[in-house]
Amino acid sequence: MTFCFDNQFLQRFPDLAHTQHPAGFTKAQAVILNTGLRDELSLPYTDQQLTAIAAGQQLDPAMAPLAQKYTGHQFGHYNPYLGDGRGLLLGEWQTGSGRFDLHLKGAGPTPFSRGHDGRAVLRSSIREYLAGEALFALGIPTTRALAVTRGDLTVYREQPEQGAMLLRVAGTHIRFGHFEYCYHRGKAGDLKELVNYVIDTQWPDLKNLPLAEFFQRVVERTAKMIALWQVYGFNHGVMNTDNMSIIGETFDFGPYAMLDRYQPEFICNHSDTTGRYRFSEQPSVGLWNLNCLAQALSPIIESEQLVASLHTYTKVLQEHYWEKMTGRLGLSDSVMGRDIVRRWLKLLDESGQDYNLSFRRLITALRDSPETLPANLKTNANFSLWLRDYLNLLETEASDKAQLLAQMESVNPLYILRNYLAQQAISAAEDNDFKPLQRLAEVLRKPFSEQDHAEAYVAEPPDWGRHLQISCSS
Ligand code: AMP
Ligand code: MG
Repeated sequence: MTFCFDNQFLQRFPDLAHTQHPAGFTKAQAVILNTGLRDELSLPYTDQQLTAIAAGQQLDPAMAPLAQKYTGHQFGHYNPYLGDGRGLLLGEWQTGSGRFDLHLKGAGPTPFSRGHDGRAVLRSSIREYLAGEALFALGIPTTRALAVTRGDLTVYREQPEQGAMLLRVAGTHIRFGHFEYCYHRGKAGDLKELVNYVIDTQWPDLKNLPLAEFFQRVVERTAKMIALWQVYGFNHGVMNTDNMSIIGETFDFGPYAMLDRYQPEFICNHSDTTGRYRFSEQPSVGLWNLNCLAQALSPIIESEQLVASLHTYTKVLQEHYWEKMTGRLGLSDSVMGRDIVRRWLKLLDESGQDYNLSFRRLITALRDSPETLPANLKTNANFSLWLRDYLNLLETEASDKAQLLAQMESVNPLYILRNYLAQQAISAAEDNDFKPLQRLAEVLRKPFSEQDHAEAYVAEPPDWGRHLQISCSS
């Protein structure tokens, strides 16, 4: 199998691409390199070369950098002026096990920058790097990053910040918004070609099948991705259609958060004043976004078929969600299992418990004694009855206790990317110490098994860490 950049997007969609080179950093420095991912993708770069590429200083001669044009619905409103305003697709890397876009975020202004600086800050680049690693380790489809670099550049947001670049890896950078652009510009030919491009490069099993199968696949992947967000408490924060990957990878990380306490109405994005993208709304927003995509595809796929696929969304999402959630409690997916999960979540909500940690505490309680559970959970009026019903159900389902506990541990993370942990790593990096970031990334790569000397990463947030305000600006 040959490994090469084949850069098909540029060949197939010259109208949707603006070719240009990155505006590279001077005095570039690697903040973090993902050498494991580099090796997985068989990218033939030394650390030095990877740093130079991720700082926009050097290109592989086989790369063909470009900014992509797309549009999208932002907070419910169509915006025709979007596109890669600060990122460039460097090239499409073909490997034995798949194809990956390499994209450099923070690479300088493009024709789609709308007067902004085309840059990214260190804080957000680190947050995106960590999120990719953390979600990947949890089994949630996501883009990842090969590197974060820093340069001799100050970027102005609410205050002056250090400029950085992030070298991102995605199956594809095609978003819902690419299709919306073609639809709103009346480019039915490009629409069809975009579908074929995604099929050729990502889903070859759909070749020669009706185009409606493509939309059905998008619906399923989106539903499953969002189900997993709900399972592990991930709040994306900016689910605009330009931030929705067509292949259902978690994409364009901004003010995201993993839930600390279980709060269904949690809003991670400080700029989201109406709570449009709050945690509990994510499944509905996914469907809203798929409706936008369906409209965009309506010139090339029959409306009845699009609607039929949309009707499958909720079922796919719920089935995936319940299977995983009952599994987190060591139960099989049944009416009774779902009821136990619902009541458990209600208990967590009412007694202000940490979301993910509570599942680990429950495992400890099953192993040792329910006495080990937090006092304000045990004193909830509904707790005893719930526990009795839960233990009864476990008894009827599970055979071997050790096996049950091991199975539960394998799906309940101990290490979670909490905002305060990310913030500690960011503060250290801003002070030129990259070790805490590297250590945090390492811990997050094995979230399910207890690691030596990692107790500090388990802790619930200190008071300052509960009230971090993360806005859209990045
Ligand atoms: P985001 O909120 O990062 O998903 O970005 C939304 C849109 O704004 C995209 O078209 C981005 O390319 C663009 N954008 C965001 N930040 C900048 C920036 N600093 N400079 C230029 N364009 C930007
Ligand atoms: Mg975006």
